[in-house]
Amino acid sequence: MSERVRELIDKLAAERCLSREEWLSVFDGYDGDDRAYAAEKARQTSLKVFGNKIYIRGIVEFSNVCKNDCLYCGIRRSNSSAVRYRLTDDEILSCCDEGYEYGFRTFVLQSGEDHAAYPPERIAGIVRRIKQAHPDCAVTLSLGEMEREDYALLREAGADRYLLRHETASREHYERLHPSEMSFDHRMKCLEDLKELGFQTGAGIMVGSPFQTNECLAEDMLFFTGFRPEMIGIGPFLPHKDTPFRDQPKGSYELTLMMLSLCRLLLPGVLLPATTALGTIRPDGREQGVLAGANVIMPNLSPTAVRKKYMLYDGKICTEDSSDACRSCIQARMKRIGYEVTVARGDHFYD
Ligand code: SAH
Repeated sequence: MSERVRELIDKLAAERCLSREEWLSVFDGYDGDDRAYAAEKARQTSLKVFGNKIYIRGIVEFSNVCKNDCLYCGIRRSNSSAVRYRLTDDEILSCCDEGYEYGFRTFVLQSGEDHAAYPPERIAGIVRRIKQAHPDCAVTLSLGEMEREDYALLREAGADRYLLRHETASREHYERLHPSEMSFDHRMKCLEDLKELGFQTGAGIMVGSPFQTNECLAEDMLFFTGFRPEMIGIGPFLPHKDTPFRDQPKGSYELTLMMLSLCRLLLPGVLLPATTALGTIRPDGREQGVLAGANVIMPNLSPTAVRKKYMLYDGKICTEDSSDACRSCIQARMKRIGYEVTVARGDHFYD
């Protein structure tokens, strides 16, 4: 246990801000006891803001075709072993209809960057149809980078939220994770555009992605402090066998939990999922994520027939299960740790 780290965790909880040097002292100096200390504070914060309620979001992975070639990702375009698929508009709609029956009031449409097959007009049409069928639901999009006018069209069509992990706030690090045709500045510009257009905007990172240093993590925390995302997606990096990072080590489970706790203390009202990657690295990872301050879980609503094909990393859980099995499983897991799944849109609110 480090007294200095504890002081800094207390300071973070009180002032919701640390300097770069202070963040570095946390990442360089924390141990298991400090992590437990941060987790308990974060859990109390989460209980104060959200009670013991966990929001659920049904995720529909509607296409694994991608024009990008991110070095970490299993559906990158150069992975010729990936069997590609695309869902029709009707198939996407019926996943949402099914999800509605299970109590989902947020649908997340996620895909590779497949803008050729799903131009913004087509996505806008799908969003309108979901909103028409389920006016009490929120629609979250996670389609990667687009131009501002495309995002504007999607917002006008009724999309409420957008998830676009920045992946890393360090330009040098970004450039080691992505091919040279991808641009750090453009990704950051997208996040600015999304926020300005009124989306509840999600940023985030993979913990332990190759070449990540504590300096990178400090930079990420400073970015969150300035940008104030409404949502933060954080999971461990997990290698995929058909990518250039196949032999890279997994991210740390413990550091992922620590990051979740620090994010909760930094932004008490942020929507913070215990991610599928966290549930993949440890069987009870999502439960431990909630106990460390997370308040959202995103069970899979994709048709069982395509789930194995949306393999961002090896070993991804829930690829055999039906949507109602995933839904009941989460309910039981949350109940066991004293939390309750709630049927609510679960919008973000700033205090
Ligand atoms: N095309 C969309 C969705 C990407 S997939 C976009 O660009 O935003 C969603 C997230 O999965 C990515 O942002 C990335 O952080 C995460 N991811 C991809 N490959 C991963 C891996 N090997 N291990 C852990 N997370 C990964």
